[in-house]
Amino acid sequence: MPPRLGCPYGSHRSVEPRESLPQPAWRLDNTPDIYDNEILIDVETLNVDSASFTKIVGEVGGDPAAIGARIWAIVAERGKLHNPVTGSGGMLIGTVERVGSALADTCGLKPGDRIATLISLSLTPLKLEVIRSVRPETDQVDVVGKAVLFEKSLYAKLPADLPDKLSLAVLDVAGAPAQTAKLVGPGDTVLVLGGGGKSGLLCLHEAKKRVGVTGRVIALEYSATALERIQALGLADTVLQGDATKPLQVRQAVLEATGGELADVTLSNVNVPGAELSAILATKETGLIYYFSMATSFTAAALGAEGVGSDARMLIGNGYTKGHADIALQVLRENPRLRALFEELYA
Ligand code: NAP
Repeated sequence: MPPRLGCPYGSHRSVEPRESLPQPAWRLDNTPDIYDNEILIDVETLNVDSASFTKIVGEVGGDPAAIGARIWAIVAERGKLHNPVTGSGGMLIGTVERVGSALADTCGLKPGDRIATLISLSLTPLKLEVIRSVRPETDQVDVVGKAVLFEKSLYAKLPADLPDKLSLAVLDVAGAPAQTAKLVGPGDTVLVLGGGGKSGLLCLHEAKKRVGVTGRVIALEYSATALERIQALGLADTVLQGDATKPLQVRQAVLEATGGELADVTLSNVNVPGAELSAILATKETGLIYYFSMATSFTAAALGAEGVGSDARMLIGNGYTKGHADIALQVLRENPRLRALFEELYA
C-alpha cells in the first residue's frame, strides 16, 4: 500500500479554511490518527505563551480552574491552543508515541523519546483528554493529551542535564537569546524592555556577553521584584524602573542613562501591548529593534516609527533562528546563578 502522506507543512490538517497553512487556519483536524509523515506525541505539559496566558488571566481571573476551562475551550474549538485574541500559542513537552513510517529512518526520533516542540502551539494539532493542573506562576499546564508534528516541524530532545520543566520554560523563548547573539556586537548599547522576565533575563545574559567591555546593557522593568532580580544577578550595567507603555518617559530615562546617545539595539520582551513606541524612541535612528513580544502590533510599530521620523531597522520576533535551542540552553550552563533562579521559578 502506498504511504499516506500529508503536506510537509501541515496544510492537510486545516479544516477551516481548507488548504490554508496550519498557523493562520481557524481550526485544525486534531485526530490523533497520524499520516505516515507525522509524529504522534503523548503530551505532558503545555507552556502557554506569556502574552496568551496574561490575556486569559485578564479575561477569566487568576483561578486555575477558570484558566484551565478557557484553555480547554480554545483547544476544543480550534483543535490547537491558538489564542484568538493574541494569536500566539506556546509549546509543549511530551513523549514520542509513534513515528510515521515515512519518517522513521530520517527524523532521529523513536517511540519513548522525550521531546520539546519548537514550533508554536498555534499551529500544532492538539487533543486534550484531561487538564491535570494549571500553574499560573509558570504559565505551565499539565495535561493528558495527544499532539501531532508535521514532517517540517521542529523539536528538540530534552537534555539529560537539565530538569524537563526548566528546559520547557527556556525553549519556549529560545529565539530571544539566540537572536540577541546574532544582533548584538561589541561596543553596542543594548536596551531590554521587560528585562526581568523569562526571555528578558536570557537576553540580558547574552547581550552582556556580546557587547564586551566597551558596550553597555540597560534593563527596563516596572516591578520592584524583577528589578532586584536583575541587580542581584549582575545582568545589566544599568537598571531602570519604568513602564514600557509610556514612550516619552522611557525615552527620557534612556537619554539620561546613555548621556543622550540612546540604544544601538533594543529588544522588546514585555508581555503586554503598547510598547512599540517606547522601543522606537529609546533607539538611535540608525539602530535596530527586535520585537520578540507577541503583544506587539506591527502596524503600531511601522506607523509609529514613520510618525516620529525614525529610520531604525525593525525585526519581527521570529521565534526561530538556527541553533536557537542550543544557544538558549547554553545560557543556563554558562550562568549557574541564572540557572538557580530559573530552577526556583520554573522547574
Ligand atoms: P515574561 O516572563 O512574562 O516577561 C515579561 C516581562 O515584562 C515581565 O518581567 C513583566 O513584568 C514585564 N512587563 C510587563 N509589562 C511591563 C511594562 N509595562 N513595563 C515594563 N515591563 C513590563 O514573558 P516571556 O516569557 O519572557 O515572554 C515575553 C514576550 O515574548 C511575550 O509577549 C511572549 O508572548 C513573547 N514570546 C515570543 C515568542 C516568539 O517566538 N517571538 C516566543 C515566546 C514568547 P511583570 O512580571 O512584573 O508583569
